[in-house]
Amino acid sequence: MTGAAPETLACDVLVIGSGAAALSAALRAADGGLSVLVLEKSDKLGGTTAMSGAGTWIPANHHALAKGVDDDAAQALAYIEAVSPPDWREPEGELWKAFVEAAPRMLRFLEDRTPIRFELLSEPDPELEAPGAKAYGRMLSPLPLKTSVGGPLAKRIRKSTQPHSLTYEEMIWANFIHKPVRAYRRNGLKILWRKLTGQAAQGSALVAGLLRGCLDAGCIIQPGVRVTELLTDEQGGVTGALATAAGHDLRIEAARGIVIATGGFEWDPELYGQHFPGRPDLICSPDTNTGDGQKMAAAVGAELARMDQMNIAGALPTRYEGRVHGMPLRFQAARHAIVVDGTGRRFGNEFDFNFGEKLLERDPETGAYPHLPAWVIADADFLAHMPVVTTFARNKRGWLIKATTLAALATRIGLPPLALEETVARFNIFDRQGFDDDFDRGGSGFDRLVSGKAGSLGAVARAPFVAMPFNISLMGTKGGPRTNARGQVLRPDGSVIAGLHAAGNVMANPFGTRAVGTGTTIGPALTWGFLCAESLLTDNRKTA
Ligand SMILES: Cc1cc2nc3c(=O)[nH]c(=O)nc-3n(C[C@H](O)[C@H](O)[C@H](O)COP(=O)(O)OP(=O)(O)OC[C@H]3O[C@@H](n4cnc5c(N)ncnc54)[C@H](O)[C@@H]3O)c2cc1C
Repeated sequence: MTGAAPETLACDVLVIGSGAAALSAALRAADGGLSVLVLEKSDKLGGTTAMSGAGTWIPANHHALAKGVDDDAAQALAYIEAVSPPDWREPEGELWKAFVEAAPRMLRFLEDRTPIRFELLSEPDPELEAPGAKAYGRMLSPLPLKTSVGGPLAKRIRKSTQPHSLTYEEMIWANFIHKPVRAYRRNGLKILWRKLTGQAAQGSALVAGLLRGCLDAGCIIQPGVRVTELLTDEQGGVTGALATAAGHDLRIEAARGIVIATGGFEWDPELYGQHFPGRPDLICSPDTNTGDGQKMAAAVGAELARMDQMNIAGALPTRYEGRVHGMPLRFQAARHAIVVDGTGRRFGNEFDFNFGEKLLERDPETGAYPHLPAWVIADADFLAHMPVVTTFARNKRGWLIKATTLAALATRIGLPPLALEETVARFNIFDRQGFDDDFDRGGSGFDRLVSGKAGSLGAVARAPFVAMPFNISLMGTKGGPRTNARGQVLRPDGSVIAGLHAAGNVMANPFGTRAVGTGTTIGPALTWGFLCAESLLTDNRKTA
């Protein structure tokens, strides 16, 4: 679509958004012979996906099986059931089953139809002791790719807050967090070569490769067009949408249906405020994720669910598009650091991959968030161990607070000094004895793998002492229109809204705040997009 936009456009499938969920849906639908129009509100393509590490959790994938990993859908399902909140099995069981069955097929399809090549990562499942868990084989990320494969759209791919010259796995081993100078010395030539040859990995490779596949399959992809409203027929089925682009109003007729893949609602203060406390410390996604999909779906009768779920993350302040932005990093999971709440006490194992869930815990009686506000409390050894923190702290004045004593630090941030001193003294005893009596930090297989030989404790003892806010920072919300296992959007009475599908962070995500893998948004987003398209390819307007 170039030049002046026509007033009415017709296609089989309209895909709204251009992240993992959207492009996977578009590719599968177009490959199945449907005409596909992809509309992206931002001038940049790829959404949060393009910014991401593209760590992709796909159980029983063909790369792992080829390396002899013993995995299948049944083990993956057992693992998901074991680690998910117990009361989620009933409402989400069908979706989990659909995911574990489709995900490996989706991954093969992506490699068949795009230039993307995935590699296995060394990251284990975070709940290694659970039934069906795997220490290796479920996490993947794309190998470097020339982003020019995106053809005329390559220059539109959204930039990340993180460097994408290295692969996800190379980033882990390069150890930029702890040894940035050494990491640059060892990888500088590779980084330079990839920059000179226009190669990138992670989310940039994923989006570039998906765009290539979509273009080859005949999709029309248009950035800078915001979809504003869904159109329905007399039975309430969705038939098309209205959109706006640079002052032009567009009407799109979608004969087969629509896939909403517009990401989360974290950048909409009103909708966010209805479901979460206050404003987040730092948001890591693009500011175009304002909940449009959730609102459009609700306007045509969809049930919104899981609106209190999010991809919560430790994050450092960075600069992006001219302002302070979040860059996800589990900086709280570091030696010589603990996290305390307003009482000055610890409330969990800081190395737990799902530690962020604790921040969203509510008092069942009052509805209050007992662990907010929270703080990372650390010392000079932490700063030496994590030089990246000092560097990024410069991006947000007052983010890193220093004091020469713990009592002075507590007073500065409004914590009870005595309680903080006691908490730190107790933690330092755990460090000396080599285990954490309170929360077993370092006790799990995952903790041991990520903390390495040095272990996960480390006394908080050497001035200056430092505090950094550790309230809610996020990569995206995970609630929205409730769907069935085909991705069809449902009404509150369980009936299907014909022609409407949702995938990715915009849907009532069957994996909520609790992450089952270290990359449990991209794998499911790609898979749900794929499943939505398969639904549109067969019986697309079936409502029962
Ligand atoms: C730095 C970083 C690293 C990450 N690393 C990982 C990782 O390694 N593994 C992992 O699993 N997750 C990771 N995540 C999270 C992951 O990137 C997201 O959860 C995921 O990409 C969401 O995909 P999506 O397709 O649902 O939405 P998005 O990729 O966010 O795409 C949504 C798109 O919809 C567009 N849109 C919104 N409204 C409209 C509208 N009205 N009309 C048209 N378009 C619209 C938006 O502009 C956006 O481009 C990371 C996130 C960040 C920020």
